Amino acid sequence: MSAIRLGLVGLGKIARDQHLPAIAQTPGIDLVAVASRNAQAQGVANYPTIEAMLAEVRLDAVVLCQPPQARFAAGRAALLAGCHVFLEKPPGATLSEVEALAALAQEMGVTLFASWHSRAAAAVDAARDWLAAADIRAVHIAWKEDANVWHPGQTWLWEPGGFGVFDPGINALSILTAILPEPVRMLSADLDVPANCAAPIAARLQLATASGVPITAEFDFRQSGPPSWDIIADTARGRLVLAEGGNRLHLPNGPQPAEPEQEYPRLYARFVELVRAGASDVDVTPLRLVADAFLIARHHAVAAFNG
Ligand code: NAP
Repeated sequence: MSAIRLGLVGLGKIARDQHLPAIAQTPGIDLVAVASRNAQAQGVANYPTIEAMLAEVRLDAVVLCQPPQARFAAGRAALLAGCHVFLEKPPGATLSEVEALAALAQEMGVTLFASWHSRAAAAVDAARDWLAAADIRAVHIAWKEDANVWHPGQTWLWEPGGFGVFDPGINALSILTAILPEPVRMLSADLDVPANCAAPIAARLQLATASGVPITAEFDFRQSGPPSWDIIADTARGRLVLAEGGNRLHLPNGPQPAEPEQEYPRLYARFVELVRAGASDVDVTPLRLVADAFLIARHHAVAAFNG
């Protein structure tokens, strides 16, 4: 079986930190081209736009690593060119555009993969399995990091469709919705929006499972020092702590042996599997919770952000 010829769009932080190394180590997929307005990769054909790339190279698949605001137009162009498409998270700036891409992928008979890298973190499956047999009483999420350390110069984050603190916060929601045994709904959202930004710098959320288990979440971009990427579940069997963005699990009997972090290699293995199987994987549940938070939010004006 010949390797999937892949084009990458948006050569920024996540593309360089994670996608390029993960592609290089995944059997069955080869990076042959990159489309980025201001950057070039070595050893592949480079183009300034996805349109130029699609016109000049024969590709089987495209991975979109730009900010969410640019995702739909590029996704549509790639699907119409008959390519399988791998979407970075969040899969789009709105729910309706992701649904339109999913419908187009089906019409074109190609794969659409809406990836959630945090769901592929090392301890997420073990946490889900442990919680399946636990009587969950309450859940708390603390997802806090310093925007200046983790997102320097990323002005798109603070624009409409950039999600602000929900850009990392949606990772917590992607894990939450993968490890709880029942659906979750958004009850209230308090969003702190800096005077010079269109998107929140912090959020305090109340959610609940369908049967009423309370869930609270604190997302904050004003953290100083190390980040907190923790989900804590209190159960009849004791406390579960899923720490380090889903990569470390602490159970009542102590810390569990840590597996190596392999989020992006796992995503690429899954993408190759989906393409070979002729299937798609588009779960918008985390994006829907973010949309619901914005729908019912109370907004609080806070000091301007100096990024
Ligand atoms: P980034 O460093 O700003 O890179 C994004 C790249 O996309 C830019 O370098 C830019 O390259 C290109 N681009 C195309 N259209 C753009 C537009 N309208 N505005 C800005 N850039 C545009 O961002 P990133 O951190 O890689 O994040 C990209 C996506 O990956 C986001 O959806 C984010 O949620 C996700 N992600 C990020 C991380 C992380 O740790 N940073 C982790 C996981 C997932 P050109 O100027 O060369 O076109």
